[in-house]
Amino acid sequence: MTLLNTPANQTLPAEPFVGQMLINGRFVEAMAGKRDTRFSPAHQIAVGSYPQAQAADVDLAVKAARTAFDAGIWSEITAAERADVLLKVADLILRDLETLALQESLESGKPLVQARDEVKGTTNLWRYAAALARTLHGESYNTLGKDMLGVVLKQPIGVVAMITPWNFPLWILCQKLPFALAAGCTAVIKPSELTSGTTVMLGKLLQEAGVPDGVVNIVTGLGPDAGQPLVEHEGVDMITFTGSTRVGRAIAEVGGRQLKKVALELGGKNPQIIFPDCDWDAAVDAVVFGVYFNAGECCNSGSRILVHEAIAEQFTAAVIDKAKSVAVGDPLHPDCKVGAIVSEAQMNGILSHIDAARKAGAEVRLGGKRLPSGQGYYLEPTIITGVSPEMPVAKEEVFGPVLAVLTFKDVKDAIQLANSTCYGLSAAVWSKDMDVCLETARAIKAGTIWVNTFLDGYAELPFGGFGDSGLGRELGKSAVEDFTETKTVQLHIGPRRHWWLPK
Ligand code: NAD
Repeated sequence: MTLLNTPANQTLPAEPFVGQMLINGRFVEAMAGKRDTRFSPAHQIAVGSYPQAQAADVDLAVKAARTAFDAGIWSEITAAERADVLLKVADLILRDLETLALQESLESGKPLVQARDEVKGTTNLWRYAAALARTLHGESYNTLGKDMLGVVLKQPIGVVAMITPWNFPLWILCQKLPFALAAGCTAVIKPSELTSGTTVMLGKLLQEAGVPDGVVNIVTGLGPDAGQPLVEHEGVDMITFTGSTRVGRAIAEVGGRQLKKVALELGGKNPQIIFPDCDWDAAVDAVVFGVYFNAGECCNSGSRILVHEAIAEQFTAAVIDKAKSVAVGDPLHPDCKVGAIVSEAQMNGILSHIDAARKAGAEVRLGGKRLPSGQGYYLEPTIITGVSPEMPVAKEEVFGPVLAVLTFKDVKDAIQLANSTCYGLSAAVWSKDMDVCLETARAIKAGTIWVNTFLDGYAELPFGGFGDSGLGRELGKSAVEDFTETKTVQLHIGPRRHWWLPK
């Protein structure tokens, strides 16, 4: 397999983007003055430099968010006014699409073409949140008797801490921030230390759109130094986290101790189930797309396929054939489909998963090695067969371009295999028999089931996981309500019957 090189007409940035933290409407350095540089995983050049926040910086950011919330400068304006600002943010993201997409691609290693689609797609989330903002209405009960009217108010929950990972930095933030803002909340964001650029750039756009000072604050830095103090801060009312199950569990423990609301979007080991009567070409393509999209660094990665034993060999051969032709290489190349792995540590982790699968007796039928490159972290698209359900590669999230192939005998067996990991984020079923599709879709314990398709997503449809894949849902019609607290107001009408009247 040959790597795509940097196109001749593509210039790499001469200087890194120098970002600052956003606290109370001002772009600032960390108090201790520390910064860290992000090198692009494809070219090993400096592409970003960010302050390294510690507890004292986080404290300032949370206090700013608290003060802004309590002052009512955002929480008490009308939903229509908030919606106008959110719509402006969408327009500004579109205006700066090229700058944002390039930074996203340089820091994460994902194809620039894909980054453009993602940045554009986020505007849809801002517009949907703007629409939802004006539908938040609570409930009224006129059924409680002549002397009572019950009103259920939805009020913004307060200060929301948002912690995001490196694989879809801007997209994942936009699954949270517009909806929290639509509800009237204020926020402190801590992006991944590997990909802070687009979050910091968004901070400028929020200001330009008219988000008041202190409503959105951004701290950059490491998880233990900046993320943990944020989660533990008593000024935070809710935490929404996307990332690994390990860190998510630790955050849920803090939430449990402090009785804060916690929403978690975590890992997955998502099966695509292939029945013999499926549309063969569509299923082969979706399997290749499902596992190699974003280099497999995707919570929704279709990292295992369960294939009916009658077609297993032939289907796998077709997948291998197509996977061989997938274009890997410089993310800035217009033909690139699989870019660089985000870091050396991530690449080595993926390689050790492949090694462990080999040692467990599975067969690496395609790829399995680092692709030779002067600078970048590139892996061959990999396919592992002969995988049995108890092997780690069948159960653990690899988070790389590695497909595990397992086989099944019948529908019952397929469902049992699909449900045999601790995760439950998503799954797909491929068959022309709708009875089989529905039986399987109903029985799989996962938050999203695709039938004869893979990885589609809509702002209108809730997203999240069962089991170790998370807590709560993002998007969907309750996406704004998720950032509210419920208050019951009971209005008595006319004279109240006394509890005790002295005789
Ligand atoms: P990670 O858990 O290592 O880090 C995520 C974020 O948490 C980063 O900003 C990090 O700095 C911060 N963090 C780390 N330690 C912390 C701590 N002790 N306290 C507070 N914050 C801390 O995850 P990652 O490697 O950035 O991302 C990959 C993981 O994210 C994968 O497991 C993937 O499945 C998951 N993910 C899930 C979804 C989803 O929607 N379900 C989407 C994307 C990624």
